[in-house]
Amino acid sequence: MVYHGAMNAQTSISMDEARQVLGEVFGYDRFRSPQDGVIAQLLQGGDALVLMPTGGGKSLCYQIPSMLREGVGIVVSPLIALMQDQVDALRQNGVRADFLNSSQTAQQQREVEQALQRGELDLLYVAPERLLMPRTLAMLEALPIALFAIDEAHCVSQWGHDFRPEYVQLSQLHQRFPHVPRIALTATADQATRLEIIERLALEHAQQFISGFDRPNIRYRIAESQGSAREQLLRFIREEHPDEAGIVYCLSRKKVEEVAAWLQKQGLKALPYHAGLSNELRQQHQQRFLREEAVIIVATIAFGMGIDKPDVRFVAHLNLPKSLEAYYQETGRAGRDGLPADAWMSYGLQDVITLRQMQAGSTAPEHIKRIEHHKLDAMLGLCELTSCRRQALLRYFGDELREPCGNCDTCLEPPQTWDASLAAQKALSCVYRTGQRFGVSYLVDVLLGKQDDRIERFGHHQISTFGIGSELSQSAWRDLYRQLIAHGLLSVDLQGHGALQLSEASRPVLRGEQPLHLRKISPKPARAKDSRTRSKHHLGSGDGKLWQALRECRQRLASEQGIPAYMIFHDATLAEMIAQRPASLVEMAAISGVGQRKLDAYGEAFLDVLQQYPPGDAVPASDTVLETLQRFRLGMDVAAIAAERQLKASTIEAHLASCIEAGELNLDEVLPIPEEKLAEIRFALEHHSDGKALKGAFEALAGEVSYGVLRLVAASMGER
Ligand code: ADP
Ligand code: ZN
Repeated sequence: MVYHGAMNAQTSISMDEARQVLGEVFGYDRFRSPQDGVIAQLLQGGDALVLMPTGGGKSLCYQIPSMLREGVGIVVSPLIALMQDQVDALRQNGVRADFLNSSQTAQQQREVEQALQRGELDLLYVAPERLLMPRTLAMLEALPIALFAIDEAHCVSQWGHDFRPEYVQLSQLHQRFPHVPRIALTATADQATRLEIIERLALEHAQQFISGFDRPNIRYRIAESQGSAREQLLRFIREEHPDEAGIVYCLSRKKVEEVAAWLQKQGLKALPYHAGLSNELRQQHQQRFLREEAVIIVATIAFGMGIDKPDVRFVAHLNLPKSLEAYYQETGRAGRDGLPADAWMSYGLQDVITLRQMQAGSTAPEHIKRIEHHKLDAMLGLCELTSCRRQALLRYFGDELREPCGNCDTCLEPPQTWDASLAAQKALSCVYRTGQRFGVSYLVDVLLGKQDDRIERFGHHQISTFGIGSELSQSAWRDLYRQLIAHGLLSVDLQGHGALQLSEASRPVLRGEQPLHLRKISPKPARAKDSRTRSKHHLGSGDGKLWQALRECRQRLASEQGIPAYMIFHDATLAEMIAQRPASLVEMAAISGVGQRKLDAYGEAFLDVLQQYPPGDAVPASDTVLETLQRFRLGMDVAAIAAERQLKASTIEAHLASCIEAGELNLDEVLPIPEEKLAEIRFALEHHSDGKALKGAFEALAGEVSYGVLRLVAASMGER
C-alpha cells in the first residue's frame, strides 16, 4: 500500500486511518500517549506544542499526519548532520521522504525540488536558514503543504543553551501559511522556555501536550570514585555492557584521548571525540558509532547534540557535569528505544574541588554567578543524596514523582547515613585553626597527627586539632571534606590552590548547634547486581547465540546498504522475535517494528536465522566446553587438547560435538573427511541408530568409524 497523501477532503481523515498507517508502515500496534491526541489535532488542521521526553516518540506525531494530509510535511530541524539518517530510516519503512540542505550538490538539490514539485514527497527535512530563503518560501507557497513541524523548538529561546537566531524568524510561517497546521516539538523546556516558544512562534492557539520528563528505563547511578575511576568504568562496561554501545563523557580533551586509548588497550572499540580533532576524524568516529555495533565514544560534551542512535545502552560520566541540565541532557542519550539503559557516574574529591574553583574564578556578572552557583549546588546535591535520585532530578525540573522510583542506585541499595556532627566539627575547626590557607591533604595530615616538616614549620603540630582525628581513616576524612564542600559548608579559594575556607553555613555546625547527617561511603561502589540479567531479560538460556545471529544478520543487511544496523530493526524488535519465534511471514508481520516494507525486504532473512535456532535446542555452553572450544579455535587438535587438559579424547570429542550442535562450529572444521565417506556415515546414522544410541550405526559400519566421529557427525545432523 502506498500512501501518497493525496486525500482531498482533509476533514474526513480519521484516526482509524492513522492507526492503519501506524501498523502497516511502522509496524506498531498502538499509539503511545499522547501521540494519538497530537495526530488528531493536526489532522483537524490545528496547531500543537509537544513536550515529550527523548525517546517518547515525537517523530510519529508529525510523520503520520504528513503522510495522510494532502501535500508534503515540512520538518524544520537545526541538525543537518542527522537529516540523511532520518530520511534513510523513513525510506526503510517505505515512506517517501527527502531533505534539502547545504551538504548537497546543486544537482542533488534540484532533483529534490523536482520531486517536491511533482508531489512525490510526503516529508521534507530542511534547515531553518534554508526554509527561510525567499526562493524556498516562494516554491512552497505554490504547493500543497500538509504541515510544518518545528523540531528542537527550544532553539528559539534566547536564554537556552541551544539558541539559533534563524529560529526566531520561523514566526513568518504563520503569516505566510495561515492555514497550514504547525507543530513545535522539544524534549527540553521548562515553563519559561515553553512560554517563549509559544510567543515567538505565534502558537497561542496551539493545543499543548506536555508529558513529564521522566525516562523510566534509565537507571541513575552515581558512585564515589575509589581508586581509579577508569578501572571502575572498565569493570562496569565489562560486567554489564559487554558488546554494547555507549558514551563516556570527560571534561577535557586530554582526558578524552587518554581514556579512549586506555580502553582500546583493554580490547574495547573506544573512539575519541572532541573539538580538537579534525572535522574528518570526528565525522568518521561518529559514523562508526552509528553504523557499527558496540562502539564506545569517549567525548567531551561537544558530542551528542542530535545523536539519534536508539540503542545507546549506557552513558558514563568520568567527571561531574556542571549542572543538572547538562547531566539530564547527556544521560538522556541512553536508551531512546525504551529498553533498559544505565546512566553511570563516578566522581570524587578532585571533581568537587575543580568545579568549585571554576565557579569561584568565574568572571561572569554577579547575577549570572549566582545562577551558576545554584546550578552547581544542585548537581552536587544530587551526588550526595541519600533518597531517590529520580525524584530529586524530576523535582528540579518541576515534575513530581510520588513514589521513589525503584530504578536508581539509592532506591536499589539505600545508602546508610551516619551522624557526622562531631567529625565535621573537627574537620571545620582544623580549617579554622590552620588559618583557612590549606588544602584537603594537609588538613587530613594535621587531623591524623602526622609527623611532617611542613606541619612543624607552620607550628601546626601544636594546635588543638593536631592528631584528634584517629577515629577515621585518611580516605574517610577526604570523603568527609568532599561532602562538606559539596554541601557548601566549605568553599574553595579563588587563587586555585585548593585552600578551603569556612562559609557562613558552616558556623552553626562548627559551634555544634546543628547536627549533620551524611551519606556513609559504601566500601564497594554501588553496583546494580541484577543489571546484566536485566538488560538481557528477554533472553532465555541458550538464546544468546540466537541473539548474536540475529544481530549479525541485521549488520550484514545494514552494511550492504551503508546504513546503521538499527535502521533494519531495533533491538526491541529482535528481542520480540526471540520471545515470539515467528515461523512464517504472517507471524513475522505481527512483531512490533515490522511494517510492510521491512517484512518484504527482510522477513525471509530473519525467519531463516530463527529456524536455525529452534527453541530449547541451543545447549547452554558450560565452562569446560568453552575451554575446549577456545583451544580448538587456537588450532589445537583433539589429542593435544586432551593432553593439555588431562581429559580423555572422547570427552573432548563430546565437547566439540556439543559445539557443533549449538552451531558454534561446523563439522568440516572439526572432521575433514571426504564427502562420500560422510554420506555413508550419515546413512548409517539415519537408518541404524536411534536417538543418542550410536551402537547400531557403529555396527553397520563394521566398527570402522569410531564412536567419537559418529558423535560429531550426529551432532551436525540436528534433530533426526
Ligand atoms: P523522540 O524523537 O521523542 O526522541 P522517536 O520518535 O525517535 O522519539 O521514538 C523513539 C522510539 O520509540 C523509536 O524507536 C520509535 O520507533 C519508537 N516508537 C515511537 N512510537 C511508537 C509506538 N507507538 N509504538 C512502539 N514504538 C514506538
Ligand atoms: Zn529511585
